[in-house]
Amino acid sequence: MDKHERHDFDVVVVGAGGAGLRAAIESSALGAKTAIVCKSLLGKAHTVMAEGGIAAALAHLDPQDDWRTHFKDTMKGGQFLNNWQMAQLHAQEAPDRVRELERWGAVFDRTPDGRILQRAFGGHTYKRLAHVGDRTGLELIRTLQDRGVHQGIDVFMECTVVALLKDGDRVSGALAYWRETGRFVIFRAKAVVLATGGYGKAWKVTSNSWEYSGDGHALAYQAGAELIDMEFFQFHPTGMIWPPGVMGILVTEGVRGEGGVLKNSEGERFMWRYLPENKRKDFAETPGESQKWVEMTVAGKQTDARRPPELSTRDNVARAIFTEARAGRGTPHGGVWLDISFQDSERIKKKLPSMYHQFKDLADVDITTQPMEVGPTAHYAMGGIRVVPHTGASTVAGLYAAGECAGGMNGANRLGGNSLSDLLVFGRRAGMGAAEFARQNASMPALDEARVDAHARRTIAPFERKGEDPFTVHSALQEVMGTYVGIFRSESDLEEGLRQLLRVKERIDKTRVEGSVMFNPGWHLARDLENLIVCAEATCRAAMLRKESRGAHSRTDYPKEDPELAKVNVCVKKSGEEMSVAPTPCPRMPIELRVLFEEKK
Ligand SMILES: Cc1cc2nc3c(=O)[nH]c(=O)nc-3n(C[C@H](O)[C@H](O)[C@H](O)COP(=O)(O)OP(=O)(O)OC[C@H]3O[C@@H](n4cnc5c(N)ncnc54)[C@H](O)[C@@H]3O)c2cc1C
Repeated sequence: MDKHERHDFDVVVVGAGGAGLRAAIESSALGAKTAIVCKSLLGKAHTVMAEGGIAAALAHLDPQDDWRTHFKDTMKGGQFLNNWQMAQLHAQEAPDRVRELERWGAVFDRTPDGRILQRAFGGHTYKRLAHVGDRTGLELIRTLQDRGVHQGIDVFMECTVVALLKDGDRVSGALAYWRETGRFVIFRAKAVVLATGGYGKAWKVTSNSWEYSGDGHALAYQAGAELIDMEFFQFHPTGMIWPPGVMGILVTEGVRGEGGVLKNSEGERFMWRYLPENKRKDFAETPGESQKWVEMTVAGKQTDARRPPELSTRDNVARAIFTEARAGRGTPHGGVWLDISFQDSERIKKKLPSMYHQFKDLADVDITTQPMEVGPTAHYAMGGIRVVPHTGASTVAGLYAAGECAGGMNGANRLGGNSLSDLLVFGRRAGMGAAEFARQNASMPALDEARVDAHARRTIAPFERKGEDPFTVHSALQEVMGTYVGIFRSESDLEEGLRQLLRVKERIDKTRVEGSVMFNPGWHLARDLENLIVCAEATCRAAMLRKESRGAHSRTDYPKEDPELAKVNVCVKKSGEEMSVAPTPCPRMPIELRVLFEEKK
């Protein structure tokens, strides 16, 4: 009798967020026997938390919009470190993916004449975010789940993948355990798609939930794949900061998209002071012009007024808030005020229902009459597994990646709304790529039983060790990342951060858990920490190598951009037992796309 439960599939997708579900739908539609494995309940992924909307140049409100403008906005937001081919495919295919979602049953907010409504977001030239109030992710995941389940995809939920298995250089499946019983399960597969999301749990103040421990990043790294752009982690400017129990929970950019203004403790609308000189002309010059933009936008009308300064890119707004608070112009709990209470209260409740309830229930603040207290929160991983744009193939044969755990699409910074569209565009492509790989490599790869046993032994090792409990060590890791690898960085901070991270790593290798393998949160965390430390170390080392400030990466000792570093992505991979970090050339954009940026000049 087999020691462990076993299943064979053509394609195994790890992760049931937007990227994983879309990949599995495509793979199964192409005839591949497909499974989804997810460590939480089906439907409880980060995608469900997405609020503001999904970016696609549908041009329903601003007819001038098209894929080229979306492509340009994305490349500018990413400070040209994005893989241009991913940004191009994304901008070109996002509208079709949104329309497809609508055909599959998603009900978006509508314009008066019945088309999908779109809202403004930072960094997007036009109103581009299709949305469902501030619960867009819920609609997206509900629709994909219905589609996937009806298509017959096998779902293994509350099942955590702990290692990728290999047959020579090729991926041959994954080892996982059931969270309920602690029993191991082997998935043998011709191809594996990683869609595990980000690693925000490396920081204490974060919008991310327990699931975001960088599992896909670390699984791929351990299997020999390359990670890129790990120095770029997005701090969303507006998270809740009070009371302490809710610190970090996201306050959607939709609040600013609907006209919310940011003020410091002196009542100053400070964002005007932080607009980059070369972008100033894109923003309203006065509160009057900004107000006109809001009124016309609320009425769904065209206007020549320019957008409010609060809709600057996320990295810029986050730095501005951080700087205001540090300069002593912060709110009582160290943030700034975000106010939308000047708008009609019924409209606020209709357009931002989750925000209304979130503040009412969690902070006893009525946002229709009072301002919100907000500050930056660790939010989104731009860095991830290096993939081939058209197929989602990683640098390891048979291994694919999509969604937040894949790198390349966003470069130095992601624009709001571009993640949900990224999930659909590249989830579909990774599903296609994996199914095609499985078709071309039709024989089932071999399993290395000795490696399976070694991975299983390592996974249960915390029950036999004598170190600290994982919760204490997790706090230590978060403390190091918050102190030394946060919004602003410097050489001395990063050096100290790395020294301390390496000490935390030794503590992780010795963590001890009590009790049994059945539903044991301490044990789950002990495993997650092994992934988090890979991501934390990669972020710190890559940040040391990038001696410049660009996008989400701000170096106080190198405050300017370095033109030479504009030509490279930082690549992290495993080299023996060491982590190697090196610059690799960015793919060069072809002339027909380069001219798009010159036309503007
Ligand atoms: C509060 C919030 C609001 C947001 N709002 C927006 C928005 O309005 N617009 C936008 O574009 N983006 C938004 N984002 C970002 C966006 O939601 C995420 O980037 C996106 O949903 C990530 O999708 P994903 O499919 O890559 O991962 P997820 O949706 O997080 O799915 C990850 C899946 O992987 C599984 N998993 C992880 N590790 C393992 C493992 N070891 N074994 C098995 N399964 C595993 C998880 O259980 C989960 O099923 C928001 C994010 C947050 C946190």
